[in-house]
Amino acid sequence: MATPLPLDPPTRVLMGPGPSDVAPSVLRALAAPTVGHLDPYFLNVMDDVRAMLRDVLRTGNAVTIPMSGTGSAGMETCFVNLLEPGDAVLVGVNGVFGTRMCEVARRCGAKVTAVEVPWGRAFDVDQFRKAADGKQYRLVCVVHAETSTGVLQNLTGFRGLADELGALLLVDAVTSLGGVAVEMDEWGIDAIYSGTQKCLSCPPGLSPVSLSACTTKVLQNRRSPVQSWYLDLSLIGQYWGTERVYHHTAPINMLYALHESLRLVLSEGLKARHRRHRVHAEALWAGLEAMGLKLPVADGERLAPLTVVEVPEGVNEATVRKHLLDVYNLEIGGGLGPMKGKVWRIGLMGHSSTARNVTLCLSALSSALRAQGYQPADDPLSAAEHVLASCGE
Ligand SMILES: *Cc1c(COP(=O)(O)O)cnc(C)c1O
Repeated sequence: MATPLPLDPPTRVLMGPGPSDVAPSVLRALAAPTVGHLDPYFLNVMDDVRAMLRDVLRTGNAVTIPMSGTGSAGMETCFVNLLEPGDAVLVGVNGVFGTRMCEVARRCGAKVTAVEVPWGRAFDVDQFRKAADGKQYRLVCVVHAETSTGVLQNLTGFRGLADELGALLLVDAVTSLGGVAVEMDEWGIDAIYSGTQKCLSCPPGLSPVSLSACTTKVLQNRRSPVQSWYLDLSLIGQYWGTERVYHHTAPINMLYALHESLRLVLSEGLKARHRRHRVHAEALWAGLEAMGLKLPVADGERLAPLTVVEVPEGVNEATVRKHLLDVYNLEIGGGLGPMKGKVWRIGLMGHSSTARNVTLCLSALSSALRAQGYQPADDPLSAAEHVLASCGE
């Protein structure tokens, strides 16, 4: 085989369900010199990353660790550490990621009760209470931002529910962290996991995990060792703690990148960042609706970082995505599971959430739709610009 040429990836605009665009300074951090995983310089990087992660998660939790692996590794970390065979868990299922939680919990030998509502809807905490049927549980699990459906789950009332059920509250914050408010301590979340490539705008590869003090006790009182040696938090905690005991080689350069992306999040300020995501999403929604497209998620349950939009009659969704990629270098996502072929998923996450990307996406989509004979009802750009102007942009 002839040796391939060096890589020369295209510069895309990433407006799918993740990864999102990565800021140039984060890419530069990745290219910094690799040092050893016990180098004093790197130990400082680790301390900074942990302190910044706590600030972004709004928690004081001692156990706050970026796991080596993507968001799903964070999910798996929480389940394998907190569950033992026979434990009962209650999982909200209204999309792909709740479904995945059930599968991971089952593989841990747990007895899983799924609380189901239609895809595209949020839960009412009473639906969980009803499904719990008066029994006790080890975990109550809920996805904060369902990336497959574009639904934001209000977490009010879930702490109280978990207390009634004798359970810990586990939250998937993969798509919410850095894009919408996440208040780990204030909301009484016991265990949380996230991912780097959504609203934190770092490449995929790390999964921040944080456990409350009482969750850490559950870990210490396990009857059996954690089934996964690689994801065992009691072992990894000794590397991230003061002992600095080797467990596995930390992905050094990925942690440089996370360091830079967390620094960007905190220098922007969490409130300003959440507002930016909200304003750009509202401009996008106004533009899509002006074109005559339907947003299936109710206004109050819509997730700013990820918008689901229905494919109109007679339009081929994959052809539109190909047009956007070929002509505009613009990536948006298709539907997952039962929504495949029926919707697009448009991300405005982290570094991708800009007014310029909103107008680019609306113009590109409008051109791709016209190419298939769909006539947008109104001008999407003036609708979007109206929203941006009224928000001072
Ligand atoms: C992306 C995502 C995951 C999984 O993360 P990977 O990085 O793809 O492993 C889990 N939960 C939610 C809500 C997600 O959006």
